[in-house]
Amino acid sequence: MKFHMKDFRDDQSILLEEEIEAGKLDIDIGVMRFSDAILVKAQAWKIEQDLTIEAHIEADRQFTCSLCLEEFHNVFEKDITLHYDIKGLDSVTIDTDIRDELLLEHPIRVLCRPDCRGLCATCGANLNEGACKCKINHKV
Ligand SMILES: [Zn+2]
Ligand SMILES: [Zn+2]
Repeated sequence: MKFHMKDFRDDQSILLEEEIEAGKLDIDIGVMRFSDAILVKAQAWKIEQDLTIEAHIEADRQFTCSLCLEEFHNVFEKDITLHYDIKGLDSVTIDTDIRDELLLEHPIRVLCRPDCRGLCATCGANLNEGACKCKINHKV
């Protein structure tokens, strides 16, 4: 998403809406992937040499559970405020900051649900779907 300084008139703000392709942002990292485009709505104000941007980010994230390895989705939604020093600049691109924001929210360990039971260490069965036959062996 790019704001051009020449588009700003007086005190008026500029509103932009864009669907940024996940591939363009290079944000597919291991346990977290983005299947669809990242929706960004942003409003920008230019005051002398400062540009203030309020952006709303929305993206569908795809995860692999750390315990049971099942795939699941969740929606990322966040409002951010960005400031740029625009001295000598013709335009400002905010994609890198959007990318940073998406990566910042990335959890180290993701679970499909708080009480995920994971996989049986013996037979590999997904214990969320019910107890496996080894149950007797690892009873505590
Ligand atoms: Zn899980
Ligand atoms: Zn088992």
